[in-house]
Amino acid sequence: METQFLKWLLPQLNKDHRLEVLPGDDAAVLRFPGGKRTVVTTDLLTESVDFRFSKSSADNDFPPPASAHQVGRKAVAVSLSDLAAMAATPEAIVVSVALPQNGGRRLAEELFKGIQEEVNTFDITLAGGDTNAWDGPLVISVTAIGSILPRQCWRRDTAQAGDFLIVTGPLGGSLLGRHLNVTPRCREATAIASRYPVHAALDISDGLAIDCGRMLTASHVGGTIELDLVPIHPDAISLSEVPHTNQITPLEHAMQDGEDFELLLAMPAEAAQALVQDDPSSLVAKTTMQPRIIGKVTESLDFCSTTPDGQTKRLEPKGFEHVFQ
Ligand SMILES: [Mg+2]
Repeated sequence: METQFLKWLLPQLNKDHRLEVLPGDDAAVLRFPGGKRTVVTTDLLTESVDFRFSKSSADNDFPPPASAHQVGRKAVAVSLSDLAAMAATPEAIVVSVALPQNGGRRLAEELFKGIQEEVNTFDITLAGGDTNAWDGPLVISVTAIGSILPRQCWRRDTAQAGDFLIVTGPLGGSLLGRHLNVTPRCREATAIASRYPVHAALDISDGLAIDCGRMLTASHVGGTIELDLVPIHPDAISLSEVPHTNQITPLEHAMQDGEDFELLLAMPAEAAQALVQDDPSSLVAKTTMQPRIIGKVTESLDFCSTTPDGQTKRLEPKGFEHVFQ
């Protein structure tokens, strides 16, 4: 029952300086210091589309099943990743769930533990939410609220010809399990924003090729990705060897796989070179970030890839898209 669940849940939520009105009222009242702007984003995850709990009938059991704890963490992490893409500091989340009527309570408790883990990791507050039940699978939506000083927000539509393109880590093969253990680049984004000029940014959620295409199109520019510079995650190599999956190369995985949640940045050339030479742990302690230059923004509107032998090809913006009619 919702009332009993809330009776269990609400006392566990910390009092927080950002909450003028505590969770349990009709709405949260948030207060941010110093005239900061509010950044808001939302993301919705659906069982069997974004994750699955049970083992698949396929004999290789791919992609791996998720625990409710992992789903709770991931639901928060993917929304925080969108805040990172704007260089906003995460402050609060509100969480809505549609729980299956059977076993919903136990599921909600496990989800909450995962949510709470991310709340603690990123020092944010769980400001409220909604709990529904139905005869369908689990649906969870996390709205994340961040803060940023005026005019310091990154955006995707302001890349400039001559900018270098940077990714913050190796790509591809996330479906082997990294997609259930997402590390949003929030601290890295705010640290980079405080030290370097960044003209445009987004988080790679649907695949490098499609997301880079989105940035270039939004900015009314083109770009070239040098294929031998794209950092390939070891998982992309492993995944290309898994039977019964799309047999594509590790590079194709790095270019097209979704759910890496690394950042793609367009930066002035000199700043880009300084960033990749900088020690990442001097920016953020214990970060796993490995920034790499992968290409350039061009005035010509074409989106291309080049190979070391000098061949240039038009790049298909392939990646993950939800399909509906
Ligand atoms: Mg995004």
